[in-house]
Amino acid sequence: MPYKSVRPGDLFDCQMCGECCRGFGGTYVTDKDIQNIAAYIEAPLETFVEIYCRPSGSKLVLAQKDDGYCIFFDPTRQCTIHPVKPRMCRQWPYIPSVLIDPFNWEIMSGACPGIRTDFPPEVVQKCVREKLLQDQRDYPR
Ligand code: SF4
Ligand code: SF4
Repeated sequence: MPYKSVRPGDLFDCQMCGECCRGFGGTYVTDKDIQNIAAYIEAPLETFVEIYCRPSGSKLVLAQKDDGYCIFFDPTRQCTIHPVKPRMCRQWPYIPSVLIDPFNWEIMSGACPGIRTDFPPEVVQKCVREKLLQDQRDYPR
C-alpha cells in the first residue's frame, strides 16, 4: 500500500481483548468526562466521584475492581459506558504522546495487540495527528 494513502484505521484493528481496560496506572478522567459519564449512568456528580473515581496525584482516575479491570469493564459487553467513555479511552491508540515520540507507538503495541507496527514513524505520526484533529472537531472542549 502506498504510504500516502494510509488512513488511521489501517494502523489499528481492536481485537476486543480488554487488556487496555486493566491496570496500566488507571484511566484519567477530565471534568467533562466525569460530567458525561455521571449523566449517562444517572448518578449525582458527588456520588459518582466518590464511588467510581480514585485520586491519582492531583488528578482523578476511574476506580478499578479487585481483578484490576476498570470499574466499567464487563467481560461480555466490554466497555459499559462506551458512548461516553473518557477521552483517554476514546482516543486510544492515537494519543498525543506518539506525536512527541513515535517510539511510544512501538511501546504501546506491546500491550495492545490491535496496533500494527509495520508502518514508518512518519506515517504513524501523520495518522495520529489526523485522528486527534478529528477528535477535537467531534468533541470540542
Ligand atoms: S488492548 Fe488494544 S486490541 Fe485489546 S481491547 Fe484494548 S484497544 Fe483493543
Ligand atoms: S472506561 Fe471503558 S474503555 Fe475505558 S478503561 Fe473503562 S471499560 Fe475500558
